[in-house]
Amino acid sequence: MMKTKILISTMIIVLSLTSCEKGFVETNGQLQVKGVQLVNRTGDPIVLRGLSYGWHNWWPRFYNEGTVKWLKEDWKVTVVRTALGVGVNSENAYFQNPDFSLEKIEAVINGAINEDIYVIIDWHSHQIFREEAVDFFSKMAKKYGHHPHIIYEIFNEPVHNSWEEVKAYSMEIIQAIRQFDPDNIILVGSPHWDQDVHLAADDPLTGFDNIMYSLHFYARTHKQWLRERGDYALAKGLPLFVSECASMEASGDGPLDFAEFDAWIDWMEKHKISWVTWSLADKDESCSVLYPSSASDGNWNEEDLKESGKLNREKFRVYNP
Ligand code: MG
Repeated sequence: MMKTKILISTMIIVLSLTSCEKGFVETNGQLQVKGVQLVNRTGDPIVLRGLSYGWHNWWPRFYNEGTVKWLKEDWKVTVVRTALGVGVNSENAYFQNPDFSLEKIEAVINGAINEDIYVIIDWHSHQIFREEAVDFFSKMAKKYGHHPHIIYEIFNEPVHNSWEEVKAYSMEIIQAIRQFDPDNIILVGSPHWDQDVHLAADDPLTGFDNIMYSLHFYARTHKQWLRERGDYALAKGLPLFVSECASMEASGDGPLDFAEFDAWIDWMEKHKISWVTWSLADKDESCSVLYPSSASDGNWNEEDLKESGKLNREKFRVYNP
C-alpha cells in the first residue's frame, strides 16, 4: 500500500514536471478568433508578445535559429515576426534574390517551430504586388499551414492604396492561403501604415474565419487619437493585432517616449491585444534594438542592447508568463 502511494506520488510529480516543460504552442495550439479576441485551442483568450526582425534584405545576419532561441529563452517572447523585404531596391530583397530571401525567412520560421513559439510571416511591402503575393502565400500555406505556429501578415503597411484596393487584394491573398490552410490566423492591413482601422471596421471582409486586422503605432507620433480609433474598431467588432510598434517617432528614430509606450501597453493589455515590437537590427537608429557589436546568433550582453532593446526585453519579461 505504502509502495503504491509512493509510486503514485512519483508519477504525479513526473507528470507535473513534464507539463511544466510543455512548449508554448504545444500548450496553446491552433489559434482562433472569437468575436474580437484571439483565443487558443481551448477558447481561452491569449495575448502574444514578441519582437519583429528587421527587413531581411538589410539585416540578414540575424535571420537564424540561434536568435529565435535566444529571444525565447532570454527575452521571453512567445512570437517573432519575419519581415520579408519586398518592393525595395536591394540586391537581397525577395524579387531580386528569392532563394536567398526564402532561406533567411525559413531559418526563422523553422527556428520558431523548433522553439515552439508562434511566428508571423510578414510580406514587408508598402505597395501592392498581387500576383507575387498570391504565389508566395500559396507556397507558404502549402508548406507550413499544418503547423499551428504560423500567422500570415499579407500586407505590412499600405501607404497610398485605398481601403477598397487593400480589401480586394486581401480577399485574393486570403483565398490563396485558404486553398491549403483552412484555419491559421491571417492579418490584414489598412491604409496609411495600418492606422485606418476605422475604414476596415466600417467595411470589413466577410466570409472568412480567423482574420484579424493589424494596427501599427510609433508611440511618440501616434497617441490617444489612434487608441480611440482602435476603440471604435473594436466596438464595431473588428479584431485587432498590433503586429508592429515601437516607442519613438514614426521615423523609427529619436528619443523613446516611455510614458506614451506605457499608455499603449496598458491599452493593449486591457483589450487583450497581442503586440510585436520593431525591430531586430543593428542600424544606427533608436528602434533597432541592437548595437553592431552584437553576435549574429543571440547571446547578447547588456552592452549589446540599445535603450529600446533593454526596454523591449524588460517588457516581455514582465508581461509574458
Ligand atoms: Mg492550418
